[in-house]
Amino acid sequence: HSLSKSFALGRRRVWGEKRFLTAVDDVSLSLGAGDSLALVGESGCGKSTLGRLLMGFDAPDRGRVMFEGQDLARLRAGEKRRLRARVQMVFQDSGSSFNPRRSIGATLAEPYRIHGRAWSRAAIEALLEQVGLSASLYERHPVALSGGQRQRLNIARALALSPRLVVADEPVSALDVSVQAQIVNLLRRLQSELGLASVFISHDLAVVRQIADRMAVMYLGSLVEEGETLATLARPLHPYTRALVEAVPRPGRALVAPLEGDVPDAVSPPGGCRFHTRCPVARPLCAQERPKLETMGQERKVACHFPLV
Ligand code: SF4
Ligand code: MG
Repeated sequence: HSLSKSFALGRRRVWGEKRFLTAVDDVSLSLGAGDSLALVGESGCGKSTLGRLLMGFDAPDRGRVMFEGQDLARLRAGEKRRLRARVQMVFQDSGSSFNPRRSIGATLAEPYRIHGRAWSRAAIEALLEQVGLSASLYERHPVALSGGQRQRLNIARALALSPRLVVADEPVSALDVSVQAQIVNLLRRLQSELGLASVFISHDLAVVRQIADRMAVMYLGSLVEEGETLATLARPLHPYTRALVEAVPRPGRALVAPLEGDVPDAVSPPGGCRFHTRCPVARPLCAQERPKLETMGQERKVACHFPLV
């Protein structure tokens, strides 16, 4: 279903009209049990906004977010709370996501308490072990943990209520590269062991390659390309995706010049194709007509008048 989310920008008015920022514009995605999808794009492209819509934290102005056949915006409070248990979010570890006075055991007991579920010390110790932490950490406090261990604890907390969908917003970007790989492997293992559907919000294509079967690329709030991750990275159809892929430094390959031009103002994005001001292969039509997301070949989708082939 296509989604759109606009934000009123305070009291700024232009010609007496309120200016709206459309952070997520006509995005349409579907996800089944066990599917993993990465949302990719530069900062400010609307990835996190889309993540919040998928979580039901924000309601779209247009379009619907359906989860297990239900429209998130139409759920009553009680249903919404039950849904919150089935959809969980993991954030970039900021070092302050835990109450320092609460033990690790009590931290993991919290979701059960909030949702009125029964829990036991044994269940929480099993949860610790599931994410590769020692059960002996139960009585310790989060301050005793390293960055990677804290992110494992974040993940354990998200898994406590056996969710069906996990949305992870830049889950490893605050970590050292060696630790990143461990957390990526953990998330991969949990996906397959638990049959979790997962959405990874990331700007890092090296992480995306390892973590998600499918990827969706966003530019200024629009979905520009979607497809199987390895096929998309190997042969991007959209010029913006190609620019992202070519911007990744790789040994033995000459560095490609980054995209020219600044990212346009998201408040008043360019007409026609939103990428036309930076696109190296733009033609006159691109400034006039906005390309629709269309299916191309094997389960690939691209929004471009002149896709790369
Ligand atoms: Fe470039 Fe035109 Fe395709 Fe937009 S529609 S990405 S400007 S070629
Ligand atoms: Mg973000």
